[in-house]
Amino acid sequence: MIINADLHVHSKYSMATSKNMNPETMAIESVKKGLNLVATGDAFHSKWLKELEDSLIEIDDTGIYKTNDNIAPNNTKFITTTELEDNHRIHHLLIIPSIEVAWQMRDEFTVKNMDSDGRPKIRMNGAEIMDIAREYDCIIGPAHIFTPWTGLYKEYDSIMECYDDKPDFVELGLSSDSDLADTIEELWDYTFLTNSDSHSPWPHRIGREFNKMELDELSYNGLRKSIKDNNIIENYGFDPRMGKYHETGCIQCHKIYNIHDAMARNMKCTCGGRIKKGVKGRIQELASYDTPQHPSNRPPYQYLLPLSELLSTVHDKGVTTKYVQTRYDNLLKQFGNEIEVLLNTPIESIEKVDPLLSKVINSYRNNGLNVNPGRGGQYGTVEYN
Ligand SMILES: [Zn+2]
Ligand SMILES: [Zn+2]
Repeated sequence: MIINADLHVHSKYSMATSKNMNPETMAIESVKKGLNLVATGDAFHSKWLKELEDSLIEIDDTGIYKTNDNIAPNNTKFITTTELEDNHRIHHLLIIPSIEVAWQMRDEFTVKNMDSDGRPKIRMNGAEIMDIAREYDCIIGPAHIFTPWTGLYKEYDSIMECYDDKPDFVELGLSSDSDLADTIEELWDYTFLTNSDSHSPWPHRIGREFNKMELDELSYNGLRKSIKDNNIIENYGFDPRMGKYHETGCIQCHKIYNIHDAMARNMKCTCGGRIKKGVKGRIQELASYDTPQHPSNRPPYQYLLPLSELLSTVHDKGVTTKYVQTRYDNLLKQFGNEIEVLLNTPIESIEKVDPLLSKVINSYRNNGLNVNPGRGGQYGTVEYN
């Protein structure tokens, strides 16, 4: 079976997240998006685990959960996940066999307070975390590996330096794609995951990056096998230039620097602000090749942008306005879900409903977007003309 899966989100118990990040709303909004499987996130937080147990039903010991059928028919299924921060401030994504296993694992980690945040700070390194993950049969890999504050490559030049062993996947993060990542030879061995890391349930956040993957069966074991065998059919995500840290730039005035000039200035901007090395600059340092060289089993990477943001931009109205929401709902009524509209609905059909929207969807489907790149913590923006 083929599914759309977003395997990294956060609950309302993580810092700076929406209070609407609860199982019911996540299920309803994920259906609108067109996701078949979504992460629970935050599975080591006791309050969240209790809430998951109250709201979700496990389907036949598969490690796959659903909400009560009257909440959203044909609803999105859930899989148990959490993100951990290690003692080097590197983030790791864990996919866990079940909620029950998550309860058992909580006691294994050295941590001050497992419930202080949905993403707990563990006083152990990557290799120690990996050992526990293996003991409990989890799927583990570095989260948003290139992110300059909390990605593995901000600390290490290779994955083995962190784990002493091979993780099961690498999560690319919003500021990179397969073309950039595959300039680094060690990454050829890994399955790439593209996940949203969403902090809110709304469909312009949840599933903003996702994986289309083939599973023998919809179960934890089916998911693990798919990741291990790299049965990802396609990765979907932002054009990396849209990410907050794509280019090297000042975190205060957002001026862009090339990496060499930034180093020569000791990472100090003319405005006095700090220059943060961007994902592109870091990848250039690690790269074995100037141009992308993909291994033969690497799936295509398709850019996409959230539908309500596209509507907001082409009609020059806020994302949450009634104007945009009415158009959004109308498109879903006609074409099924957001992913269908963004990727599969024929351009001519969209054109009949919304000519302005069809133009921009056509241009990103053909990689023709004009992007003002993100840097220094500011997201990139699409320029329309
Ligand atoms: Zn993270
Ligand atoms: Zn500056």
